[in-house]
Amino acid sequence: MNLKKLFFAFTLFVFLLGCNQQNSTNQTTQTNNTDTLFQVSTLQALMQGYYYPVSTVGELKENGDFGIGCFEAVNGELIMVDGVVYQAIYDSSILVPDNNAAIPYATVTFFNSDINIELENVSSMDNLKEQLNKIVNENGNNIFYFVRIDGTFDTLYYRSEYAQKEPYKPLAKAMETDQTFFNKENETGTIVGLYCPDFMDKLNSSGWHFHFIREDKQSGGHLLNLSSKKITVQLDKKTTFKMILPEEENFQQFQLSKDMSKDIHEVETNTKYSSSSEKETNYFPAIDRYLTDSIGSKYAKGEHCVPIHSIVRVDERDTEDIKVWGDFWVFNYNQVGDTLECVSGGSHPGLLHIRQTENGFEVTAFDQVEDGSRYLPTAKKIFGDKFDAFKTINSDEKNRERLRAEGLATYVKKHNIAATKYKDYGWPEKQIPLD
Ligand SMILES: [Zn+2]
Repeated sequence: MNLKKLFFAFTLFVFLLGCNQQNSTNQTTQTNNTDTLFQVSTLQALMQGYYYPVSTVGELKENGDFGIGCFEAVNGELIMVDGVVYQAIYDSSILVPDNNAAIPYATVTFFNSDINIELENVSSMDNLKEQLNKIVNENGNNIFYFVRIDGTFDTLYYRSEYAQKEPYKPLAKAMETDQTFFNKENETGTIVGLYCPDFMDKLNSSGWHFHFIREDKQSGGHLLNLSSKKITVQLDKKTTFKMILPEEENFQQFQLSKDMSKDIHEVETNTKYSSSSEKETNYFPAIDRYLTDSIGSKYAKGEHCVPIHSIVRVDERDTEDIKVWGDFWVFNYNQVGDTLECVSGGSHPGLLHIRQTENGFEVTAFDQVEDGSRYLPTAKKIFGDKFDAFKTINSDEKNRERLRAEGLATYVKKHNIAATKYKDYGWPEKQIPLD
């Protein structure tokens, strides 16, 4: 090769190198786009009551195919899976809104998984977070992660809410009265989740946030608890953050650096009302005392009186008159060997009025749904706009049986009773789920 040729070859090489570099630059830009977390407004603005349009479903689709959020007026939970935006409204049913539907808050991305694993025996939300945190800690906890979890869930506990009317209350206040809860068993579906690093506390919330949608796209909501024998987990690392804010004047009035972390924690984990942490809510013992003493005592006596409750709604605003709508039951049992045999019992749906006293709580009145032909009119009157929620809970036979078994387990453990089974007259005995 003479010098001239060498020079030519060298230039060609540089030229090719230049092309390559340009290509790789383009590629990097593309990768960045798909590695972007697109956030609409801030969670703090939502918490303070900014439920107005900031973006649209159409715009979310331009910026992702996967994510979570909510709708204008907090009219349901947003779940985006495989490019479709779903709206889980107050009764957990699913709508598919069109591209013009307004969004006050959301986080979406183009999902492409970086980490794939299977997790076994996930016993609760805390347990799931624990297992996911391990992965995040190994891969870096100062970046974002979207997570997609598919599987069949032994239990699921999720919520949605009723749409709000203007003037909008802060979210924690609205949730005090307007949440709806769904206890589900043996459902297959997808969990959409987001992890934010702890420095995000002024724009979002650190840690995990999950929504659920059933495989048949008929039910879903904001996920509070779960359990599963086996789930498939895909994690997608995100290193670019893009946020849009409304220019609108009303938005400028909000004090967005205010610390909302306590309210956020309460709304997201629902520690106040969640059935998994009922023990922490101190008026539940008062409800149990009332059910045992005032209701259970009217039935044929047994050695043990076990109260069970399934709460439809709670209004805690007035400490002199805390209102708890629910389906309440009492069962009296006699112990025969290691079996608790049911002697008597019944269901008592209605509204309990509770007063906070210096020494704790006491039930002051009980508006009960009546029997026979009076059932429907009194149920409608007492439950009012919560009637549909009550009907859902009341007609869920499987859930009722699960609550009864769990209530028995709690009772047996608390009172150190050597019983492992329970039995209704004329029915085969069933196991008490002691662990
Ligand atoms: Zn949510």
